[in-house]
Amino acid sequence: MRIMAETESPPVSKSETTEVKSQEVEGSEETKTDDKNDFFTKITNNDITGVSNDLTVGLAEVDMQDEHGMTALMHAAYRGNEKMCDILLDHGADVNGGSHNNGYTALHFAGLSGNAGLCQILLQKGANPMVKNSVGRTPAQMAAFVGNHNCVATINSFVDRKDVEYFAVPQGMETTPKLDPMCVSSLHNLIMQVNFHPVRVSLTVRKNAILITHLESVIKVLEQMAEREMKKGIETNEIAAFKMHCLAQTLKFLQLEVTTAAEGKDPVDSFIHKLLRCDSAGGIPEGLDRELRECVKSFPFIKTAVMQQLVANLAQLQIGEDPGAWSVIKSVVNGHKGFQDNDPCATCGEESNTKKCARCHYDGYCDQECQLVHWFVHKKYCKQKAAEHAKLQASQRESTKSK
Ligand SMILES: [Zn+2]
Ligand SMILES: [Zn+2]
Repeated sequence: MRIMAETESPPVSKSETTEVKSQEVEGSEETKTDDKNDFFTKITNNDITGVSNDLTVGLAEVDMQDEHGMTALMHAAYRGNEKMCDILLDHGADVNGGSHNNGYTALHFAGLSGNAGLCQILLQKGANPMVKNSVGRTPAQMAAFVGNHNCVATINSFVDRKDVEYFAVPQGMETTPKLDPMCVSSLHNLIMQVNFHPVRVSLTVRKNAILITHLESVIKVLEQMAEREMKKGIETNEIAAFKMHCLAQTLKFLQLEVTTAAEGKDPVDSFIHKLLRCDSAGGIPEGLDRELRECVKSFPFIKTAVMQQLVANLAQLQIGEDPGAWSVIKSVVNGHKGFQDNDPCATCGEESNTKKCARCHYDGYCDQECQLVHWFVHKKYCKQKAAEHAKLQASQRESTKSK
């Protein structure tokens, strides 16, 4: 697989997207008496009861295709209609079915719709994330081109639970498995976590004591999972492999902290402090930058497109220079172009629902835990930023009054 260069134009031109839409309308309006077209019309009209009835009484077959090779599931996914997709899947719809003219799958359409939850549902049902359409794009690449970064991250973070369970059973000559079966759920959740910022990973691990006590084997399993991913040939998702490598690397740093932590000290706390220590407001913490660069440097698959993009982008930045290694990694992994609308959490990089510090309105946080964790940095400038904020507000009030 390869990553598209930022300059390439989106494979779905506007006309192509409109084409899909107009085909649907034509197909459904031509012959309303025809049961098949009637069924597709119900999908288009979000007629959940009608669709459900047709399937139950056998008026329609769940995997039948319209004249363009599209199944009902594809139509529903194209509209991002989660509820309709659920109904179709409950009736046994083939998640990888259909033979669309341009090689799109239901997951391609879900990625285009922008509904990350729907992408997750389709993946859980076994949707193949590595199928390429007629222009050679996977669902994640299509989602990236239309700017649906949540879908990209969701698709790239998806790992089948079976892939983790494999390590919890002795293989070959082994008498004990590589992974304690008690770790499977926690590790699977950690891998599926979209945000793999080292601080977010550390906070998740702290909440899952089982991972802390099995750090050594968890690290080994993550490294082997990355390796197995890279051996999948044309099915390889190198982004997923890189992500698993980053998780392993972060846990290695954390393990070092665990083994050297002083009596009574929380190793996760001291690790996070090392990552986030920073002297200037809004600055890029050097510890974090160094750790992330180490993640990139130690990725053994240097010829991959993801690696080449990362190295090229990071080479242009000094350690601690804005926008920092995390921004670079995130943009390569999630196919971001340009800047974020939302200010990410100052602690863990989370992008959704951040709230500003109530006093200074300068740094934003995704929750109270993150605000608390970041206080040792934030307290250095909170007062000063609060004064600046008050001054700005006063001058804004003045200018509205004078108008
Ligand atoms: Zn946070
Ligand atoms: Zn503050």
